[in-house]
Parts: sequence; structure tokens; C-alpha cells
Amino acid sequence: MPLTIKTAADAEEVKVIPAMGRGFLGHCPACNRGRLFGRFLKVVDHCESCGTEFHHHRADDLPPYLVIFIVSHLIGYGILMTETRLEVPMWVHLATWPALTLILCLALLQPVKGTVVGLQYALGMHGFGAARLKKNASASCGKVDPVFRD
Ligand SMILES: [Zn+2]
Repeated sequence: MPLTIKTAADAEEVKVIPAMGRGFLGHCPACNRGRLFGRFLKVVDHCESCGTEFHHHRADDLPPYLVIFIVSHLIGYGILMTETRLEVPMWVHLATWPALTLILCLALLQPVKGTVVGLQYALGMHGFGAARLKKNASASCGKVDPVFRD
């Protein structure tokens, strides 16, 4: 029977979809009680409720890419449908679509970033797994037991 050490990602079972949903709502992906954001796009260093560290998240440019992808498809479809089905003056287009694009981008940026941080937390990426393992090890008085698997 081979010996495998329990990986950091296995240390605390957190399902991906609930963690992403909590992040989308701006809540801590681990406990769903603390806040994930201190300011608009600034992720807090650690959860005020459960102490989970978030300073090592690496959302980087993925949230803006996803927001651009989503908003461009929505706005592009809206422009296409408006042009093909309605007769709308050009000034209405110029007044509507840029403003709607800006509003959608600003509205989606924080939830999408929270979703990405929740995904990274659930998958144990970028230090989340090591921090989780460290937290569990300290909770069990520094004792980490190896796990035997088939
Ligand atoms: Zn928490």
C-alpha cells in the first residue's frame, strides 16, 4: 500500500461551486460570514470571521478578461438586435451603449473577481492550499497525520 501525504487541497473539503458563489456575493469562500473585499477591488488580507488568509490570491487579469468577454457579448448582441429589428436614431445608440457598457463593467468586476478568488481557494491554488494545511496543522497542535490511500 503506497503512502501518500494528504495534500493541502484535501486538508479542508470545500466544493468549487459554493466557494465561487460565496466569492461572487463578496463573502469569504471558506466560512461565508466575513467580507472578501475591503474596498471596491481590494481583497482583504484575511477573513475577519474565520481568519482565512487571502493575501496570496492571484486573480491578476482574469476578472477583467472575463468581464470584457461577458459585456462585449451582451452589448454586441444588443446592438445587433437593435439595428436589425428596430429603427433607432444614431444619437440613441451613442447615448445608450457606451453608458450601458460602463455600468455593466463596473457592476460585474467585483463579483467576477470574487468568483475567481473563490475558485482559487476551492482548488487550493497560489498558497491557499498551503495556508489551509498550515491552519489545520496548528488547529491540531502542529500534528499532521499522513493518509494512506490505495
Ligand atoms: Zn471566513
